[in-house]
Amino acid sequence: MKEIAIAGAGPMGLLLAIRLKQLGYENITLVDARAGTYTRPGILNASIFEELTQLIGLPVDFSDSYHLKDVERSLYKIAESLNIKIMKANFTGFEGKALRVEDEHHDIHILPCDLAIDATGSRRALVNEINRLFPDAFSVQPIADPSHKKHLMAYVKVEEKTDSDPPSTPAPYGFDFMVQKLEELRAMGWKGFVEPGFYALPLAKNKTCFYVEIPENLDASQHEKWLKTVVAFHTGKDNFDYTLLPASRKYGSKPRFLTFIVDPHQVNEAFFQHAQFPCVIPVGDAQIEPDYRIGIGIKSGAYRIKCLLDAMVLEKDQEFHIDFEKYQKELAAAMQMHAAALSKFYQEKQRSYEHYANLLSIYETVIASASMSKQKELQPSFAELIQAYAQSLYDAGNNALESILTSSGDIPLDKHGLIADEKKLEDAIARLIDAYKYAQGDLYTMASLKLNEIAHLYEKLADVFIQRGAYGSSLKCYEKANMIIEKILKDRAESVLIKYKHTQTLHKASRYEDMYDMACQTLSEIKNIGMDPEEKKKFTYKLELNKALALLHILHIRKDLEERDYYEDECNKAIKHVKSSPYLKDKHLLQLTKLLGEIPIESMCNILKDGDKSDLAADKSKRR
Ligand SMILES: Cc1cc2nc3c(=O)[nH]c(=O)nc-3n(C[C@H](O)[C@H](O)[C@H](O)COP(=O)(O)OP(=O)(O)OC[C@H]3O[C@@H](n4cnc5c(N)ncnc54)[C@H](O)[C@@H]3O)c2cc1C
Repeated sequence: MKEIAIAGAGPMGLLLAIRLKQLGYENITLVDARAGTYTRPGILNASIFEELTQLIGLPVDFSDSYHLKDVERSLYKIAESLNIKIMKANFTGFEGKALRVEDEHHDIHILPCDLAIDATGSRRALVNEINRLFPDAFSVQPIADPSHKKHLMAYVKVEEKTDSDPPSTPAPYGFDFMVQKLEELRAMGWKGFVEPGFYALPLAKNKTCFYVEIPENLDASQHEKWLKTVVAFHTGKDNFDYTLLPASRKYGSKPRFLTFIVDPHQVNEAFFQHAQFPCVIPVGDAQIEPDYRIGIGIKSGAYRIKCLLDAMVLEKDQEFHIDFEKYQKELAAAMQMHAAALSKFYQEKQRSYEHYANLLSIYETVIASASMSKQKELQPSFAELIQAYAQSLYDAGNNALESILTSSGDIPLDKHGLIADEKKLEDAIARLIDAYKYAQGDLYTMASLKLNEIAHLYEKLADVFIQRGAYGSSLKCYEKANMIIEKILKDRAESVLIKYKHTQTLHKASRYEDMYDMACQTLSEIKNIGMDPEEKKKFTYKLELNKALALLHILHIRKDLEERDYYEDECNKAIKHVKSSPYLKDKHLLQLTKLLGEIPIESMCNILKDGDKSDLAADKSKRR
């Protein structure tokens, strides 16, 4: 390869051209119709200028405002001083191994090249053209999902005699005002209950640049009203004193009030190669877009350019080659870092359930003191807010749960065989239970299904503990499962099974009083549960058996039992139920008989029929 064409003379195209030239590459041509006329607004982080100065080894100057245009103007001057060939023309297509470019007079020029760099920012002029010719040669994908994509930028003069600039976060003010402004924003098309983002960047003198999030479909005639309402929301003042700056006299087209989209995408492939075309490599925003609010565009772009330069080897006579493997490897790590920074930023912007809980109580307070007509007006919003709260609780609970459960979806155990991350797990369940309480419709179903799933996970774990003879841990699991069931499954058939198993585990753990309570509670609940009648009878039998067994133990152990007659009577009734049940099994009768033999309770013996008594006698004599 010998000839390099760079389409796009924004910060990254200019930087790459400068660095290539500094490294000894001579055959470089930059093309951009905008080259040399830089008026773009956008305030950069001041550190960018120092970093670029260090990278290039030449001063990258700024006025006192740190504008994007300052970087571009300064880099352009450096490029000119290095005699880099710059054409005021735009790339319009490929002509075999050449770029077709069109200048301001609509004259077409053909620019032969071996390497074509796409530095056209989010337009991705070269990447898109390659994709048109070779569908899907480059895959362009969204990186993360910003909840809002459209933004408004406005240069303003801040009139108010304030010492500080308008705050970027909501100021403390009356709840009525806050709710009123939020409702006004929602009436203009704002979705949800997280207020639109607002950033106020102070410029020279009393000028400020406002950036605000704006609804996608808001008519342009409403943009000023939107800005005013957002500023009011954030400053707490209905008439915060500012005026929009008029368009620049020097550069008529210089926008001072404009909307733009932020929806970062990335190109997955590092390059495109084809025998009849130049090798195409995207850089800068064309490769991966930033979000202006986290100021990584230039920094990350400059680092990725360094990765490319590190992989380029200049040989003699201006011939060069690229070690693509090396480039891909280094690039992947840099892209990953960039994408991770964006994802983190968007995640942090998603408000937590605490935000909704707080807002819910604010709306409640406002509604409580509002007039009847105002209350009626706020009701639909309030209902929507409750659902948003439930959704945020569900998301928080579900995300936490996913981070806790094992890869096979089970409750994790630590090295001591105890539940790991137990507190986190309990918090996640608490969030889901709250979500279930507040949710409506599909979300309600989702929350109940999720809780049902967790109850069964506890049940499964309880079985594991039983197999290990760890009855205490098993019971703890049943208690958790029951706690969840109490909230969501109380009237469902599956709750009976879990409670029955819980009763049995209490038996194994010799906790007879709890066993009795659990059996009684489930027996009273089962009456009202809609389930298969046969199943119901079977479980009633099993629970009566457990009740009888529990009572026999209690009557034996607790000699001092108050109301003993009552419990003996209860025990009698339970045994009678068991004996008369069609589900009676010999082994159960034997179990009862044996127990009575070991712990003879006179009043009980007469309820066993003769055969049972003889069984008991035989059993006793055998043991003797
Ligand atoms: C408000 C705002 C604030 C920001 N703050 C920061 C910050 O603090 N720190 C930071 O690192 N980044 C910041 N950024 C991001 C940064 O500005 C971008 O990452 C950077 O401009 C990307 O440079 P680029 O050269 O890749 O693309 P661009 O700057 O988009 O330049 C692309 C160039 O390609 C040209 N072009 C387009 N189509 C063609 C064509 N067909 N043929 C030829 N040329 C073409 C355009 O005219 C343009 O000059 C901010 C951005 C904004 C909007």
